[in-house]
Amino acid sequence: MVSTADLADIKIDNSDSTATNSATENSSSNEKEKDLVQHIEEETSKSALSIQALVEKYTPITPQQWGENVTGVKTQLDTADKVIALTLDACGGVYGSGYDKDLIEFLKQHKIPATLFVNSRWIDKNEEAFLSLSQDPLFEIENHGTEHKPLSVSGKSAYSVQGTATVEEAIQEIVENEQKIEKLTGKAPKFFRSGTAHYDEVAVQIAEELGETAVNYNLLGDAGATFSSEQVKAALLAAQPGSIALLHMNQPESGTAEGIMQAVPLLLDQGFRFVKLEDHKLK
Ligand SMILES: [Zn+2]
Repeated sequence: MVSTADLADIKIDNSDSTATNSATENSSSNEKEKDLVQHIEEETSKSALSIQALVEKYTPITPQQWGENVTGVKTQLDTADKVIALTLDACGGVYGSGYDKDLIEFLKQHKIPATLFVNSRWIDKNEEAFLSLSQDPLFEIENHGTEHKPLSVSGKSAYSVQGTATVEEAIQEIVENEQKIEKLTGKAPKFFRSGTAHYDEVAVQIAEELGETAVNYNLLGDAGATFSSEQVKAALLAAQPGSIALLHMNQPESGTAEGIMQAVPLLLDQGFRFVKLEDHKLK
């Protein structure tokens, strides 16, 4: 089985990721890094000083872990209450910029809160919908990255998607979309989920320093929007108190909406409530 948590920009849109060599200490790569720091500074309100400090602090550290559940990534709510957090990714990109209106309408109609992890490219393609979602207190907007890259400080990849290659690139992947969200909504995101949900533990720490906690899941809800509605339903019915479910709101042709619509009433009957990530402590 494909265990793809978050490949709902399927048929991987990898065309714009440059093949970057791991940090070689030659002058052209130093120039490139300087340019990138300057670019991040211009595009965002982070000062060059704080970015440079992060670069200096983390560049010498070699990550030891790579994957979905590395040190520092939160995967569940810290509670024994019968609560579930639905997290819906909007990945963006050529194959990932759809909008599952039926799913959102269902959640609104039944007053089911959800946390939306939104990628910069998805916002560009769906700005009106994004603004409307961000103004609805039922939904919490969080950061799903700028280019939907696995978050690495050394260019690791996941499912053939090239990750960020340096500390600077990891910072850029986080803060450019953070600033876009803040500009459009007046509210800075508190949580980050990388494209493909892969990280190294150094990149997770960098996100934390930038004010965003990396969040994955302990309930694989739709496997990158590849599950049938029956599979989505079965996955959700296995929820435990405090589960964080990973699903997608950018693949309206998938079984995700139908599976959620079937599972939610049954879960409510079982005494579960739905919450946003910001409502709970995570672990
Ligand atoms: Zn995604």
